[in-house]
Formats: sequence, C-alpha cells, structure tokens
Amino acid sequence: MKDMLSVFGSKTFDTKTMKRMLRKEVFESLQKTINEGMPLDMAIIDEVAEAVKEWALENGATHFTHWFLPLTGVPAEKHDSFLDLAGSDIILKFKGKNLLRGEPDASSFPSGGLRQTCSARGYTIWDPSTPIFLKEDSGRTVVCIPTVFLGYHGEALDRKIPLLRSLNALDIQGKRVLKLFGINDVNKVSSTIGPEQEYFLVDHELYKKREDLVMCGRTLFGNVPTKNQQTEECYFAPISPRVASFFKAINEELWSLGITAKTDHNEVAPSQHETAPIYAASSVGADQNMILMDALRRMALKENMMVLFHEKPYQGVNGSGKHNNWSITTDTGINFTDPTNEPHKNLLFLLTLACIVKGVDENAVYLRLAASVPGNDFRLGANEAPPAIISIYLGDQLEDIVNQIIDHGFADHSIQGHLIDLGIPSIAKVYADNTDRNRTSPFAFTGNKFEFRMVASSACIADCNTALNTIVAKEFKEACDILESASNFEEAAMTFITETLRKHKRVIFNGNGYSDEWVKEAEKRGLPNVKTFCEAVESLVTPNTIKMFNDMHVLSERELKSRAIIMYESYINAKDIEAKTALNMVKQQYLPAIRTYIADLLDQAEKVRISSKGANIKAYTQPSTEAFGLLEEATECARYLENELDNASKYEDTKDKAFFYKDRIAPLIEKLREPIDKLELIVDKAYWPVPSYSDLMFEV
Ligand code: ADP
Ligand code: MG
Repeated sequence: MKDMLSVFGSKTFDTKTMKRMLRKEVFESLQKTINEGMPLDMAIIDEVAEAVKEWALENGATHFTHWFLPLTGVPAEKHDSFLDLAGSDIILKFKGKNLLRGEPDASSFPSGGLRQTCSARGYTIWDPSTPIFLKEDSGRTVVCIPTVFLGYHGEALDRKIPLLRSLNALDIQGKRVLKLFGINDVNKVSSTIGPEQEYFLVDHELYKKREDLVMCGRTLFGNVPTKNQQTEECYFAPISPRVASFFKAINEELWSLGITAKTDHNEVAPSQHETAPIYAASSVGADQNMILMDALRRMALKENMMVLFHEKPYQGVNGSGKHNNWSITTDTGINFTDPTNEPHKNLLFLLTLACIVKGVDENAVYLRLAASVPGNDFRLGANEAPPAIISIYLGDQLEDIVNQIIDHGFADHSIQGHLIDLGIPSIAKVYADNTDRNRTSPFAFTGNKFEFRMVASSACIADCNTALNTIVAKEFKEACDILESASNFEEAAMTFITETLRKHKRVIFNGNGYSDEWVKEAEKRGLPNVKTFCEAVESLVTPNTIKMFNDMHVLSERELKSRAIIMYESYINAKDIEAKTALNMVKQQYLPAIRTYIADLLDQAEKVRISSKGANIKAYTQPSTEAFGLLEEATECARYLENELDNASKYEDTKDKAFFYKDRIAPLIEKLREPIDKLELIVDKAYWPVPSYSDLMFEV
C-alpha cells in the first residue's frame, strides 16, 4: 500500500483537490458554503463542475451520479456518462446544472402518498457538505455527488433534508444558549457523530445457497452451533487471515474515500465484526456511514464473502447494532456535552444535560422508533441489546451531581476518578475514569458524548441524529425562552436545571438494563416499553411530535404522516418477503429432502428386515416416525401461513395491514421454523439442503 496519508481522501474531491483545481476566489467561495453553510454562489458552479469533470477524467471515471438517501434504506444512484453531442460531434460534457440538479422519477421511490405516479417529478440538489467521491467497482469508476432528494413542491423525500434542517435548528437554538453565557463568537453549533458499525461476514458461496439470507438478510431456519459465543472468546479475538485481508482492503478503501476508519475488531458472535471511524460532523458522518456500508459490501465480495447488516442474522447469538456516539459542538471547539473536570461548576454542561434528560424522557417512544427498522425488534430487549425501554445512563459522577441538585437545588462537588494501583511495581498506576461504562443502557453517557446504543445495524443514522438534534433544539428553545428574560441568569438557570431534573429523573437509570427487575421498575416509573416497531410508528405522528417538528422547521405534518406510512409499508414488505421465502424454502427444499430421507430410511429398514429375519428395526423406524411427525407439523404450519397470507391481501389500510403482519404473520414465520429446526437435528446431514449455522459462521 502507498503511505496512509497519501491514500487518505484520494478518491474524494476534497479541500486539497479543490485548492489545486479551482481559482482562488472560486475555492474560497465554495469553502464558505461547505464550512459555514453560506448560500452557494451560482456564478461559480460552471467552473466547479468543469474542475469536477477534469478530476473525474484524471481518475478514469466515465460516469457521474447524484447520490442520495431515499426512504428505501439504501443509497440511490443513477449513472450518466460524460458523453454528449455537440451537433454531430461527440464531446465530454459536465456543466454546473448537471452538478447542481438532477431530476429522477420521485414516484418510484417510497413517498407514503406524497407523490402520485401521475405527478412524478422529483429533484436531487447538490449538498456540498459531504465531499464528492469516486466509487470504483469492477473497473468502472463513477463520480458520486451527494445530494438531497425532494418532490416537485419541495416535499422532503429523503433522510438528508430532515437531518440538515435539524442541524439548522440546533445551530439556531444552540447559539441562543451560548449567548446566555456571553459567548457570541461562534459561527456554527452542530452535532458530531461517531458510529460504530457491527456486521457479520459470511462466505459468499454458502450465502448463495441460503435463500433466506439472499432475500431477507437473515436466516429463517437453523440451529445455533454447539459452540457459539458461550465461551466469550470471540470478542476481540485474534483476526483470521481471511478477515485480516478484508480489514486491509476495507481500510484502504475507506481511507481513500476520506473516511477516517479507525477501529476494527471481532465482535461477540462468531463471524461478527465491527468497524468504526473517528467522529465527524453529523451530516457528513451520516453519509459516510452509508458509504462505509457500501464499501464493506464491495470489499467483502472481493474476498468472496458477503456482509450481513441485518440486526439478527442468526437466532441464538448476538445481533448487530450501530452505536451512534453523539455530541454537540461548535466551530470554536466548545463541546456542550463535555462535563470537564468539575461538572458541578459547569453550568453550560448542566443546562445541556437537563435539556437532554427532559427531551429523552418526553420523546422516548419516538427515539426508540428513530433508532429502528423492523429487524431491530429481534434485538431490543432480547438480552444482548439494550431493552426497548429508553433510559439514560449517567455514571457515578454525574448521577451523584444530579442527586445533589435534585436534593438541594445545587451541587457543590464532583466525585473524581480513583487511582488504580495493582501493587506490581513495573505496572504503572493509572487513574480510572470518573464514570464506568454501561453496556446495557440504550443511551449512555460516555465521557464527553452520549452513545445511542439502540440503533439498528442496517439503519440509516440520519434518522436517529435528526431525532436527537431536533429534540435537543426544541429543549434548548424552551430553556432560552425562559432564561433570556431572567434578571439573574445563573440563579434562573440553576432553578430551571433543578426543576427539570426533578421532573424527569425517572428516565435516568444506572443499573443493569438487561435485567427483569428493570422492566418492572421502569413500569413503576411509567416509562414506555414499546416492544415492536409497528407500535412505535404512531409516535411519529402524535400531536407532540408534529408540533416539535413544525416548531423546529424540520418536517411538516404531511411529511411526517407520509413517513409513518412508509414505515408501516417497510414492515409489511419485510414480513411478507420473510413469509414467502420461508414457504419457498420449506416447500421446495426442506420438505422434499425430508421426504427422501424418510423414504430412504424406510427402504433400508425393509432391506434389513428381509435380510435378517426378526431383526429389530427400531433404529430405523424411530427416527423415521419422529421425522414423519415433524414433516406433518411443518406441512400444516406452512398451509396455515399460506392461508394467513391470503387474508393479509384483503387489508386496504396500511396500518391495519402492518398490524396484521405483526400479530398473525410474524409469529407464524417463527412457528414454521420450529419443526424444521428440530428436523435439522435428526436428519442425516447429507440430506440437508442448505448450509447449517456452523457452516455459515465458521467459514470466515
Ligand atoms: P467503544 O469503546 O464504545 O466501542 P469505539 O472506540 O469503538 O468505542 O468508538 C467510539 C466512537 O465514538 C468513535 O467513533 C469515536 O470517534 C467517537 N467519539 C469520540 N468522541 C466523540 C464525540 N465527542 N462526539 C461524537 N463521537 C465521538
Ligand atoms: Mg465499540
């Protein structure tokens, strides 16, 4: 590999490249848009486009695409070549208008009723905040231009517009907060995110033999291997040569894409891994997480592996999440969520904390939704991921401060970290952090940031960050509305903090979030425990959420309602595909194999019976009888599921239909796997039509 620094960003139209290729005035004007959010100067875009084209051609690109995040869950790209006609001459052309605006068919993407097929126009508009990048795949290089995606009348049809608007709201309200503290020199308040991405790797040849993995991203059948994660030796285990080669490829690719890939390791389950970059501005970070997922997929294929982002690819072992580390920062280096050494004296931090505690408590179900996709239902509360109950972990130091404030209206000391002395002279004494970690909390304070640990591994993190930014912006606004008119700001702020913490302390929980006691305790505290995605969708369209989104100018009521419909549709689609795939596998693969196995067994029994008269053939008849019983059970379950699928098609209302899928179809999919999984443990492996869990998990 070339040296890391020269590789870094080599596939992006980054500051260095812009400086090299643009005239000084053009460069400076564009930098103002990128860094300070100033309006894009239309007079420069032809020149910028020309530079992008030149850079693209230098790098062997033949096509460009407006890259955006529609509401499907995967990035969208439609490739156009640079070829054009000038009269009868063939030329290479890329103008400012090509860079600035595209016009895909909006009705072909989920719009939740916002777009009719008869009025289908939609637009993509360049978002210069994320660098333009090159996507290289099998020798074809495409210039990807990050864009936002909207309907003809300006309706947001993507995940980026709300994120950018939420950042705007956070900027406005965050600056108001800083003004209270006499800080007026800040250009931009924003949030930064560091997403830790978990995933599974699986051999591509084996993957292709599992229709469930191909269609649903998760296995619908299979028994956990005898040795799986119980020995706890997978986490941080030495990397296998195949995975090491993948890590090498992925790091080089991510660095070249300007993504600060920092950490790779083996995760808790066999063949489960994690990759995390250094944190970045959240609009860029959200895009880069999608670029990272795409790069993981492409690089895995090069190693003849597939990457699984599903939240629960295998029943019985840990699922995957995405830990969204989030903090509120300024361009001048202030971190609102940094408690500093003596947090009890840090009023900005305490005010921020109170606002976060209030916002999380008041929007718990919506936050649970914003972190979710249908597949996350298999994780939340399933004893490996945080529960579906939203609570905040603060750690010893902050909990103590919060308690002081709740009890006395002020705090006068901060517990400090202790010195760890192992009594071994050659091992240095070190200070422990002020707070321990808590891996069971959905929303944990971790030093100078919050770690939203509930987020689904396949989700686009634009959504959960839109939620966090909007919620905190709204709480900042309410705090400023009160505090701006106070005659004694510090006193008023402390009163506000005290009252807020007293009122919302129920959401703070420092114990074990995985325990049954917490479920009971949370119920006593009146905290919602919404177990399923479907039930959480409603939180997007409650009067409170609508008002918050409206007040913060993030999404209109119409846009929110359309998103709720899209979520129900995504649930219906997920379960419908799972149900039909399960039926295909049962009818076309499992049942025929089991029938053959039983028939062969009975043939053998007959031969044994004839050749050695009077022999006990129980060793043949017993497994065949057992298999036959389970075969009947599976056939019956399949028939039942098919009937219910017919019934599902009668529902017209999307929400009703989604609930039907949740209540009737989803349990039947799980029921159907029971006899098949039992059969897998009885039937001769040579007859089994698909790779087993141990084949899948131990091949990488
Ligand atoms: P863990 O030990 O929790 O698994 P990792 O080191 O894997 O942590 O990841 C932590 C993530 O948090 C990294 O992406 C890191 O850059 C990010 N991070 C660190 N500080 C901040 C911050 N102030 N705001 C947002 N993210 C941060
Ligand atoms: Mg980690």
